Amino acid sequence: MNRRIASLAFVGDLLTQCGSRWLPRVVQAGTDLLLPPSCNFCGCVLDRPGRQPLICEPCRADFVKRTLPACPRCAAPVHPFEQGPDCIRCRKRRYAFQAAVAMGIYRDRLREAVIRMKQRVHEPLTISMGYLLAETMSEAVRSHQPDLLVPVPTYWLKRLRRGVNGPELLAEALGARLSIPAVKGMLYSRRSTKKQGTLLPVERLRNVRDAFGVKRRRDLQGASVMLIDDIMTTGATASEAARTLRKAGASRVTVLVVARGVGADHLA
Ligand SMILES: [Zn+2]
Ligand SMILES: [Zn+2]
Repeated sequence: MNRRIASLAFVGDLLTQCGSRWLPRVVQAGTDLLLPPSCNFCGCVLDRPGRQPLICEPCRADFVKRTLPACPRCAAPVHPFEQGPDCIRCRKRRYAFQAAVAMGIYRDRLREAVIRMKQRVHEPLTISMGYLLAETMSEAVRSHQPDLLVPVPTYWLKRLRRGVNGPELLAEALGARLSIPAVKGMLYSRRSTKKQGTLLPVERLRNVRDAFGVKRRRDLQGASVMLIDDIMTTGATASEAARTLRKAGASRVTVLVVARGVGADHLA
């Protein structure tokens, strides 16, 4: 049922984007009347109207908690005295993207949320996380002035097995709220790859090499693209996706993820 609320709220938000003022309110009033809106992560009843993101305050505080500043190149947490154009994690890495930003760190409840987001049953949570990204990261997104939001693709077989495409849902919700086109299918996965999390950093690069292809190249010429994904750890997947987009004509590629994976030795 919670899923139905999320879907209707999503429709309401899309209607707002279309310029309709009263229709979203009618949809909202109807859903609030049928069922009190609840947090799409912990299930607690929300004490405010059910407008997206349907995430309660304690969950939100956990998801966006950052005690340290972030590296502008790879989005990893850095100590204030280490602030610069890169950090110790990314200094020796070559990325095809120009910058990366993350809403939070892949640990605790945000880690749990990202894991859930890979399951179809938690689709409403993914949609809400897309709206939370819009709410908390709008300044960072706008500072990079993307023309297009492009979700990092998943191989079709994996997508079929999961029954959900998290990065697409995130990009759609984010794009709807920030009025930036989210383009599905422009970047696609050409082959199956092993799970990056199970590989060594050097193997991760090899695993994703030439894994992506581009459709609708004309729309990409000279465009500033922001790649959207749920998690980034070494940046190998995002970099390969960025390399493919730039080879196909994108002028600039940046990355936005829900969570930055920093391994066991995280700083924050
Ligand atoms: Zn909650
Ligand atoms: Zn860095």
